[in-house]
Amino acid sequence: MSHEQTTSLDALLSRMKSAAAPFRDTLREVYESSRHPNDGHVADYIPELARADPEWFGVSVVTVDGQTFDVGESDQAFTIQSVSKPFLFGLALEHHGREHVLSKIGVQPIGEAFNSITLDEATNRPFNPMINAGAIAAADLVPGDDFPDRVRRMRSMFGRYCGKEVYIDNSVFASERATGHRNRAIAHLMMNFGMVDGPLEETLELYFQQCSVIVTARDLAVMAATLANRGINPLTGEQAIAPEFVKDLLSVMHTCGMYDYAGEWAYRLGVPAKSGVSGGILCVVPGQIGIGTFSPKLDAKGNSVRGIRVCQEIANRFGLHIFEAGDRTSSLADELTPPRPV
Ligand code: GLU
Repeated sequence: MSHEQTTSLDALLSRMKSAAAPFRDTLREVYESSRHPNDGHVADYIPELARADPEWFGVSVVTVDGQTFDVGESDQAFTIQSVSKPFLFGLALEHHGREHVLSKIGVQPIGEAFNSITLDEATNRPFNPMINAGAIAAADLVPGDDFPDRVRRMRSMFGRYCGKEVYIDNSVFASERATGHRNRAIAHLMMNFGMVDGPLEETLELYFQQCSVIVTARDLAVMAATLANRGINPLTGEQAIAPEFVKDLLSVMHTCGMYDYAGEWAYRLGVPAKSGVSGGILCVVPGQIGIGTFSPKLDAKGNSVRGIRVCQEIANRFGLHIFEAGDRTSSLADELTPPRPV
């Protein structure tokens, strides 16, 4: 190694240390201050979800150049639930294109529950892909030669985002299937209006399986960082989704991703996000970082209480709101990105 290379490597390491260490400290501080009070309730409408330990709390941040920062139980496994929804929408878009997908699923927020049995009266479409109706319609659009092939495509898509093979939690899947009558009602209503083609039970099975994919807070952060990085997984370099569709996912997350809190979240935090009933939140800061959080206690709207608190605090401290006025010279990504060796 030449003297010049040694110098630039030293500079790189010291710059990384100087930016990354304070960020790690800040993240821990924000994590600690978000722990209490641990209010809310663990979801129990799917019996298997009620088994979660209410004390679990993990937070991960992954930068678009692949640096990772973890605090707490960031490796605790849980089922992805509704956080899966934007990704299935993306899979449908890649295979069928915007025109066809939007003829089956709208992109309009509604102020109704995630599992509401309502379609747009004018078009018969589900309102958006972030509620169950729209997500079941998206699952219906997952292509494949047969059912195992459709499941394989769904799992390999999540594998590209997570940078590893993903598995299904069979107990949660069985619990979802045994109790999912409301989702069946929604699917039948959509079949009545020609919004899904079926076979219906197969599409529902696929939907229940996608909700039961096992992830960790770290996985959610990697998935989010992949979306922040124009669809390229920053850890593996793999293209998880065609770059032209990343904005489709981020737009629906931004307007509809946080249940009936979506508008308030967009106003307060200003970054696209998606939450799920098991307590996960995935939050994308385009061009900068992905955040994944997990804490099972939910507020009345179905969002993780500590997850909201910690994301809010990170967004505030680092000025992450996408509509924040002013220049971006002090962006967090610039802070954390070491200079390239010359
Ligand atoms: N599996 C859940 C259901 O369809 C997903 C709910 C959620 O996370 O919002 O009921």
